[in-house]
Amino acid sequence: MSSTANSEKLFREVEQGRGTSLGNGRPDPFEGFFDDGRCRPDQLPDYLQTERARRWFDVVGWGVESDLYIYQQPLAGRSGPHVRVGDKELLMMSSYDYLGLIGHPAIERAAVEAVERYGTGSGGVRFLTGTTELHCKLEREVAAFKGTEASITFTSGFLANVSVITALVGPRDRVILDSRSHRSIVDGCRLARTPFRFFLHNDPASLESKLRTGPFDGRTLIVVEGTYSMDGDICPLPDIVRLKREYGAMLMVDEAHSFGVLGATGRGVDEHFGIAPDEVDIWMSSLSKAIPANGGFLAASRALVIYLQHEVAPFVFSAALCPAAAAAALAALKVLQAEPSRLETVRRNAHVLRSGLAELGYDTAESQTPIVPVVIGDDVATWKAARRLLDEGVLATPIVFPAVAPNACRLRLCAMASHTESDMEQALNAFEALAAC
Ligand code: PMP
Repeated sequence: MSSTANSEKLFREVEQGRGTSLGNGRPDPFEGFFDDGRCRPDQLPDYLQTERARRWFDVVGWGVESDLYIYQQPLAGRSGPHVRVGDKELLMMSSYDYLGLIGHPAIERAAVEAVERYGTGSGGVRFLTGTTELHCKLEREVAAFKGTEASITFTSGFLANVSVITALVGPRDRVILDSRSHRSIVDGCRLARTPFRFFLHNDPASLESKLRTGPFDGRTLIVVEGTYSMDGDICPLPDIVRLKREYGAMLMVDEAHSFGVLGATGRGVDEHFGIAPDEVDIWMSSLSKAIPANGGFLAASRALVIYLQHEVAPFVFSAALCPAAAAAALAALKVLQAEPSRLETVRRNAHVLRSGLAELGYDTAESQTPIVPVVIGDDVATWKAARRLLDEGVLATPIVFPAVAPNACRLRLCAMASHTESDMEQALNAFEALAAC
């Protein structure tokens, strides 16, 4: 049976509500939990007898039964343009490895050498005994690359965001953030117990109207993202910098998806717009996207970094980034500068993907970057589309509410520098087959 006929059959089964559980050679991430009745309300432990927990067991159980649950697929090997899951090879279309650096020999060598020299663990928190020469070097290099006085690293970008927001603002201050801000920014505000208000996505007039509300004698922190992770659009940084100056606010930019990707040399959204890095008070990025490691950083003034080294819990009370990750990030920064053609390639691939999808009639929202959303509509239609693509050998992540609005659920595609022309063709062919359904 051809793969299209096969997916047709499966699709009909899904429609009729008779799924095949996690079939098609895919490992079951729940190891049979949903097959053997342990998810029934009377079987769940007492501590999970809550509406919140119940909802998840209902949704996930339904997803497993109708064979639409395609999250948490264990990759059997490196991530890259082609991945193996169970006995299937798939075209990866939703990885954050924008520059295709996972598996780069120089980066892997640096990580292996770091393990040989420093071992696997850091043995302590950064503040006490977990700091190695590698951490210090990485922080110097990040600051030099980003054009700031200093930087500080954390074990994740999530913790970097939570750390700086809790350190800078409190209940008497306020945060004004884009309505599509990442969860780590929102959680930072919650933990800081600071009042926070959203402005309309990428809308400087809406930001200004929030800034104008007063009188207000506390401090204001504006938070935006370089590239928005669900939409692939870019923040209007020049307008935001102007408003930050006009209203005397602090400005923080999360560059999880723009660091290494935007600007002539990948320095980020400031380079993209030709804005001096010191127009922004705090630059933040993850080290797990264009930089193929783990961790996150804040790049800022020396004074802020010294304050954070003593004030924030994840630096003082949580183990340091493991040496292999620090070494990989350091090596990746070098590769990024030595191989600028990767930037051209990822941009070209993103363009091919965007224009090809538009020709097929898909809505790719406002994407201007390697993140190319394909807006489908409701959650079930989006899961079905993802499931169908999987049958065509394409892994595309479905994003549903609450990550996006309930009627704007989407497949979030990411172009990578490591995709070839034939990969792009395969992806577009799969979307053409999907459109024909
Ligand atoms: N900010 C944004 C915009 C993100 O998309 C992410 C992760 N997806 C983070 C912060 C957190 O970064 P990390 O994965 O390194 O924790």
